[in-house]
Amino acid sequence: MTELLSNHLAGRWQAGRGHGSPLFDPVLGHELVRVDAEGLDLAEGFAFARDTGGAALRAMRYGERAAMLSAALKVMQGRRAHYEEIAIANSGTVKNDTAVDVDGGLFTLGQYAKWGAALGDARFLRDGDAVRLGKEPLFQSQHLQVPTRGVALFINAFNFPSWGLWEKAAPALLSGVPVIVKPATATAWLTQQMVKDVIDAGVLPPGALSIVCGSAKGLLDQLRPFDVLSFTGSAATAAVIRSHPAVAERSVRVNIEADSLNSALLLPDAEPGSPAFDLLVREVVREMTVKSGQKCTAIRRIFVPEALYGAAAEALGARLAKTTVGNPRNETVRMGALVNREQFDNVKAGIAQLREQADVLHDGSAAPLVDADPAVAACLGPVLLGTGRRDVDGAAAVHDVEVFGPVATLVPYRSLAQAHALVQRGQGSLVSSLYGDDAQALAATAVELAACNGRVHVVTPDVAQAHTGHGNVMPHSLHGGPGRAGGGEELGGLRALNFYHRRAAVQASEAVLAKI
Ligand code: NAP
Repeated sequence: MTELLSNHLAGRWQAGRGHGSPLFDPVLGHELVRVDAEGLDLAEGFAFARDTGGAALRAMRYGERAAMLSAALKVMQGRRAHYEEIAIANSGTVKNDTAVDVDGGLFTLGQYAKWGAALGDARFLRDGDAVRLGKEPLFQSQHLQVPTRGVALFINAFNFPSWGLWEKAAPALLSGVPVIVKPATATAWLTQQMVKDVIDAGVLPPGALSIVCGSAKGLLDQLRPFDVLSFTGSAATAAVIRSHPAVAERSVRVNIEADSLNSALLLPDAEPGSPAFDLLVREVVREMTVKSGQKCTAIRRIFVPEALYGAAAEALGARLAKTTVGNPRNETVRMGALVNREQFDNVKAGIAQLREQADVLHDGSAAPLVDADPAVAACLGPVLLGTGRRDVDGAAAVHDVEVFGPVATLVPYRSLAQAHALVQRGQGSLVSSLYGDDAQALAATAVELAACNGRVHVVTPDVAQAHTGHGNVMPHSLHGGPGRAGGGEELGGLRALNFYHRRAAVQASEAVLAKI
């Protein structure tokens, strides 16, 4: 039997009492390690994090906690090579895709360490200035943001075992709130190893960071009114979480990052072969293939002017055809695996659903794999679909079915107004990207689409080298989206701290407020 990974709860490493669930190599098919959370005393673990971890963190100032994040970062930078080995084995990712997760997580942690250092010796945050409550200045109201006195529970998705932890844990720990993370079972190994390294290095106070690997059973039952819950995963699980008594009855604050049908939109001024056209093609192909399309921010729908549909299909197909797929250990491979065979089957089923309303423009799904057995490996080449000039307004599946793999659909539009309406058919997305060369039209479209997107990423030829990528989540910018995307908000610089703080107004005399 393979190694059983430990859980860290109540300040100690603890094994589950069951046989555990196996984690696999998605390319070679063999079992790697096991995880198990059966029989853990969750009540004890949550109380320890809340009381011991929370008190220790709150005794520190923002600047001290920022230094603690820097120390954690340093520990993990020294273990980078080991994380890459785990990612290749358990996520089947090529070097570049591993970097998106591992280095993306460490970069985000480093950013919060920097931003937190600037908060210095403060113990809470002032929210705006005091305002008079009457004609005279004597009695005023000052809003404060104070760290919540509970734990932050993270239930994470399989696709970002590193970034998914640190993009949430950095602002939580900086805020002074202890973290309990439950990684998705399929890829829990990397999260567990990072948590283990940081805890074993002794750079965090006991109870500040805990991890439960395995089933989520019973975790939500532990949540109390001042705790917060951050969930990333499917809309179906999100619905279960929203209706749990912790959320529905105990008002546990919840942040949900769910699925999203993100868009790329080429504005009407583009010509085939123009810089804006080429930038769209490059970005779409990158988004379809990075992490085998298993990115919540990946482009799923591509909108181009009707006259450019054929040229766009041809240019995208030609680039996608160059994608070598297979074993990430082979240097010639550009795209590795999906997370497991179950996702492989889900992606195939999703493609079949889209095919009912769209044609296949490029089919990489049957292309030979490099150094991988197609009967075993969860590897699938990119598939581009297109609605052509059929009833694009009626093609519901294209705007509704998120295929979590290297799959996207090209859709022609007749007018910019129709393009806006089609983007909005996604019912709320994490990100849309715009491509063009007309600053005025791009700015107007960005504002128009801001209401249904967490982020609008505008690519013009002058930022061809400078822009950070449609799907790359920068800690400086908001991550999350309205409606279908879950309605959550993460990152966005120090805005991320809001989720882990409670806002309160103190109404008092000028003299009292001056002492705060
Ligand atoms: P999932 O099945 O919803 O699982 C997400 C997490 O929830 C996992 O840790 C899972 O644990 C846990 N979970 C499952 N059932 C639960 C329950 N009843 N109560 C509490 N927790 C439960 O999603 P997934 O398949 O891992 O992720 C893929 C989906 O996530 C994609 O479809 C994508 O749309 C979405 N996603 C969104 C974002 C974003 O930022 N918006 C990012 C990544 C992924 P186990 O693994 O142990 O089952």
